[in-house]
Amino acid sequence: MRNTDITQKKRMRNMLFVNIIIFVLLISRISWLQFVKGSELQSMAYVQQNLNRNINPKRGTIYDANKIALAVSATVETVTVNPTNIATEDKEKVAKALSSIFNLDYETVLKKVKKKTSIETIVKKTDKEKTNELRIWMDQNNILSGINIDEDTKRFYPYNNLASHIIGFTGSDNQGLDGIEAKFDKELKGSQGKILKLTDAKGGDIDGSAESYVPAIDGNDLVLSIDMTLQSIVEKYLKEACIDNVCTDGGNIVMMNPKTGDILAMATYPNYNLNTPYEPNTEELKEQWNNLEQKDKTTALQQMWRNKAITDGYEPGSTFKLITSSAAIEEGIVTDTEKSGEFSCTGSIEIAGVRINCWRYYRPHGAQSLREALMNSCNPVFIGLRSKNRC
Ligand SMILES: [Zn+2]
Repeated sequence: MRNTDITQKKRMRNMLFVNIIIFVLLISRISWLQFVKGSELQSMAYVQQNLNRNINPKRGTIYDANKIALAVSATVETVTVNPTNIATEDKEKVAKALSSIFNLDYETVLKKVKKKTSIETIVKKTDKEKTNELRIWMDQNNILSGINIDEDTKRFYPYNNLASHIIGFTGSDNQGLDGIEAKFDKELKGSQGKILKLTDAKGGDIDGSAESYVPAIDGNDLVLSIDMTLQSIVEKYLKEACIDNVCTDGGNIVMMNPKTGDILAMATYPNYNLNTPYEPNTEELKEQWNNLEQKDKTTALQQMWRNKAITDGYEPGSTFKLITSSAAIEEGIVTDTEKSGEFSCTGSIEIAGVRINCWRYYRPHGAQSLREALMNSCNPVFIGLRSKNRC
């Protein structure tokens, strides 16, 4: 009798001990989930329970000074699917329809439709004609859920190459990547809207839960000081000049209103098509293109996109000689511009203790008229014009 008593007591003690251990383990697991992993799990649950589809805002238009649109956003549509909302027996049918309407690979589409994720993108920025075809198919086949057609926008440049280096272009998410598009991205892009929907654990619809719609806010328009007519004239003549003079590095022109400082035109040759910014722009580059490595392709594209009129340094130096000679004629320092031997170049000139060389110091120009000095771009003559005036 006594023995059984002791055994029973012992058993109870052991049980109690085991229970305490289980209890402690449970408490620590709960604390771990609550305090350590809490916020992470909460956000995972949010993603699972809320199905968000973004609505892209309409990007602002870029106009020239006369309000001619140089960059516009056209309305297109994006198609996504919620695989869990498509009935298993419909999946192949849906994949077949999507792949045939949008010219996509059937197997790839089927894989997306069968996925266990809550949202998959089928096609981005497609024409309304195509999505209308899909709408009709959905209606005829009584597919009411699982396929979303949302409005989106696509950038379009109506004048292709015109002012390409000024305007720049956007990426697949409508983000500005170069030129004005990149510089004023914040002003142009607007803010994204959302379609929010509550879902169950598997990503399916919850009966009676409505979609809530947060509209997108469109971007602001931008008016440039560029005049499209002047820009096209400047581009035409720059191209002609570069071809006629075989300028292998291309060329630039900046046209400015001297009274206001407004830039009326700014051209770089060769330019590129803003609607296809990743394609080579010259015959020469087109020929090499397929043999280039990715790294060299990137370098070539960056070179093509660069607005050399504002990014590359150029010393005005000799171009200013026109001003010096005009002033010399106006002030009567030189009366006969063709009088030979009026000036002399010995290869260098010392001024205020500094010796400045002629660019042809190794074979000085010797005796010259002002006209010849200008033709030779002779540095000592133009420095001398100034000192003669002073004496
Ligand atoms: Zn000289």
